Formats: sequence, structure tokens, C-alpha cells
Amino acid sequence: MKGHFVISLDYEIHWGVFDKKSVQDYHENLSSVNFVIDRLLELSNRYDVKLTFSTVGLLFAENKEDLILHSPKQKPSYSNRKFNPYNLISDIGNSERDDPFHYALSGIQKIKNTKNHELGTHTFCHFYCHELGQTAEQFSCDLKAAKNIANKHNIEIKSIVFPRNMIEADNIVDKPYLDVCEKHGITSFRGKEKSFIYNIHTTKAYHGWYIFKLLRLLDSYVNLTGQNTYNVEYINQNKSIINLPSSRLLRAFSNRLKIMEPLKIRRVTKAMTHAAQNNEMFHLWWHPHNFGAQINENFNNLETIFKHFKLLNSVYGFESETMTGLSNKIKR
Ligand SMILES: [Zn+2]
Repeated sequence: MKGHFVISLDYEIHWGVFDKKSVQDYHENLSSVNFVIDRLLELSNRYDVKLTFSTVGLLFAENKEDLILHSPKQKPSYSNRKFNPYNLISDIGNSERDDPFHYALSGIQKIKNTKNHELGTHTFCHFYCHELGQTAEQFSCDLKAAKNIANKHNIEIKSIVFPRNMIEADNIVDKPYLDVCEKHGITSFRGKEKSFIYNIHTTKAYHGWYIFKLLRLLDSYVNLTGQNTYNVEYINQNKSIINLPSSRLLRAFSNRLKIMEPLKIRRVTKAMTHAAQNNEMFHLWWHPHNFGAQINENFNNLETIFKHFKLLNSVYGFESETMTGLSNKIKR
């Protein structure tokens, strides 16, 4: 199998950050998401790049009544109530028309209509599998709700990105969550990079240490952890659910570190070349709202990456695939 380029986008708008920021705190980024989606579709279609939009199920709701109707009966019983998004429902608007921060059916329809990209799930309620108090059974109810609300719009959910990347592929504690995914017909998920600086499980004493954040930031510019590309056939031998691990988070354009931007993009393109030459996968991801400020600078960066993809495609046959597209090829 040739090398593959996979892009997954955690499509969540305010549901992905509600426990950290209010809509007002992050208004510029969140209010630009619809425009960012339009530009992403335009640019990826121009360069024949397939995208996987891992979408929060709540965004599929037509209005508040529909949202409540599709919400699971069993909700996550987090020990810390601030993680529970259902507490927000009394304060959100009634539909996308008056609240584009919590509803996004028009953007979802646009993605669906391109027929080129995939709509996967980012769980129904941005479910945190590593937070204390929730259970795998509640997670199962959440995934069922995510599948149901997508089915209503003739969208079949086959792939998942776990919120905050709270999954460790080979951790026995996380196995019940992957079993739930399989039960609901999910065939692939986005795992994490191999290096320990990306695998800071909440159960570990050093979870949340600032030094790891700093190392991950540094790794975006200089090579600390290698290329993070994968022989996906090899790592998924005898696996029933396919792990398509992350290679890199594409960080938003940084004004403060502007001088370092070319290094950041070169780190991405070098790893893509490595993947293309070695028939491996390079999996890039970010959130549409990351592009919501300094939109032109972010899209210039992305276009540089897409041009490099085109070059690798013509020289090495490097291919763009959705998560489900690639997992189907692996299973074959
Ligand atoms: Zn998220």
C-alpha cells in the first residue's frame, strides 16, 4: 500500500471549549467557523484533498427541541460538574439562526453535499473518557445518540476522534471504550503519537504538568519526537478497530512566534515526505476554530502543505484519504 495523507478536523465550535472559555472569551475564533468551513472545502477540493470532519453530535440538532429529543437518557456523571455540557442547554439559543455557536446543521450539510469528505463523530456531547465519574455505559449511550442524530440526515458515522484525545490504544483501562465503538459500528479512531509527551493519561501523577505542554509546543517547530508517521497495516495487524494515530496538530498561525512559522510548516512537510517515501501514513489534525483568527495566514500555511501533497502525489503516488477510506483499504 502507498503512503497516505489523512486530515481530521475536530468540528465542535463552542461544545469543544465550553469548560474553558465562554463564547465571549473566544468570540472571534468561534464566529468565523462557518467561513473557515467554506474555505476549507474550497481549498481541499482545489487540491484533491479529502477531509474527515469529526463532528460533535449536538451540532446536528435543528433546534433545541430536536437537541433535547436526541440527547441520551444516561448522561455522563462527571465528578466535576464543569465538564457537563448539558448544564449549558438552558442558556443556548433555539437554533442556528440565533446561535451559530451551538448548532451547525448548515455547515454539516455543505460537507455532506461535497460527497468527497467524511463526517465522523467527536461524540455526541464532547464526552471525556478519562474524566472521573463517567462510565463506559454512559459513553455507549452517547455514541448511540451521535449515530442516531446523524442517521436522521442520512449520514452514517464510521470513525471517531475522542475529545481531548482521551484514548490510549493499548491501555487496558481504555479497552471498554474501544469495545463500545466497535459495538456501534465504528471502524477507526485517531490514536495518539508514540512519544510519552503526548500520552499524559489523567491517571498518571504527572498529568497536567506544564513541562509536557512546553515540549509539545517545541516539537511543533523542531524535531524532538521523530516524524510520527506510521505503517498502518503493520500497527493494525489483528486489530478489529483501526488505529490511525495522530502525526501532528497543525497549530494556528502565531503572531508572537511569527518568525518560527516556516519551521512549523517545514516540520509538517518533511514528515509528509518521509511518509510518502516509506509508504506510511501522515495524519494531520486541528480544529476549524483554530483558523478563526488570522484566517489568511492560516490558509496560506495550509496551501503550502497542500502544494507539497500534490508534489508527493505525483512523485510517489502519495494519496489523500478519509479515515474510513483508509481503514477500508487496510481491512481489505
Ligand atoms: Zn474536541
